[in-house]
Amino acid sequence: MSTTPAGEAIAPPSSRPYVGRFAPSPTGPLHFGSLLGALASFLDAHAASGRWLVRIEDIDPLREQPGATRQILATLASHGLQHDGELLFQSQRTELYRAAADALQRNGMAYRCHCSRSWLARHGGIHPATCQPQADPGSPAALRLAVQSAPPSLFEDRVQGQYQQLLARDVGDFVIWRKEDLPAYQLAVVIDDAAQGVTDVVRGSDLLDNTPRQQYLQQQLGLRQLRYAHIPVIADRQGQKLSKQTFARPLDDAAALDNLLAALDFLGQQRPRQPRSVAALLRWAVDHWRIEAVPRRLALAGDELPPSCRLFAS
Ligand code: GLU
Repeated sequence: MSTTPAGEAIAPPSSRPYVGRFAPSPTGPLHFGSLLGALASFLDAHAASGRWLVRIEDIDPLREQPGATRQILATLASHGLQHDGELLFQSQRTELYRAAADALQRNGMAYRCHCSRSWLARHGGIHPATCQPQADPGSPAALRLAVQSAPPSLFEDRVQGQYQQLLARDVGDFVIWRKEDLPAYQLAVVIDDAAQGVTDVVRGSDLLDNTPRQQYLQQQLGLRQLRYAHIPVIADRQGQKLSKQTFARPLDDAAALDNLLAALDFLGQQRPRQPRSVAALLRWAVDHWRIEAVPRRLALAGDELPPSCRLFAS
């Protein structure tokens, strides 16, 4: 068993009571791909007799869409995905994130960076150990976490299997505080998963390559490590990921039963015969949940889905 820098023992995730979470960003309504993530994490938590939390990751006012939080919560409710405990809003927790960023800066792990996006793009998109020499010290600065001495990362994802990354080579020093004076996703997610006692993250595989950054931050902050399961992200036949940016169609709340049945199919699960209600379907799905049956990858076209959850807006 490992310990925090303060010497406190860190129990491995499997020995703690399961806490899962769904953490949408309110950049638009939920689409079918988001339902797969929400449903998989809900079922995995309940099958382990755990708690399932919802956290609204509203730390990016530049991308937030008015009304999206209300729509997301309405869609979760109509699909029977009732969360345990209090709803958490990241926008109300900036000071907590700032304290962590300050601590990392004080101990020399994080440094101010003025490098522009265009300069970084010219250097392969990976931030080197030092900033561009001609950086203007008066311009707004981001805070980056130094990863040059990070050991190779290797973890076992419950769906995707072994995953390896070398942060210095594959990612570079990464932003934990944005130059717009906003906390970065990587920092906020790590602080909140720890603060909420989360043991298990089940989310889309588009975030798989973010996980080593989050694990490294957990280590630097003396926080517990989590278990991860990255479920496949739906892509069209051209390999384009289904997302709010690709105009994925919002879920139809009136077709919750059909949407959930289709989601069970995509997650490789059995479906109940003629479920009478959303609640009955979910109870059945919890009892029959098998994460081993979730496929690693999914690629399909919109016409393979029922009309209620067609992928792309026409
Ligand atoms: N807020 C992120 C999103 O909506 C998900 C974060 C996470 O699950 O770690 O893409």
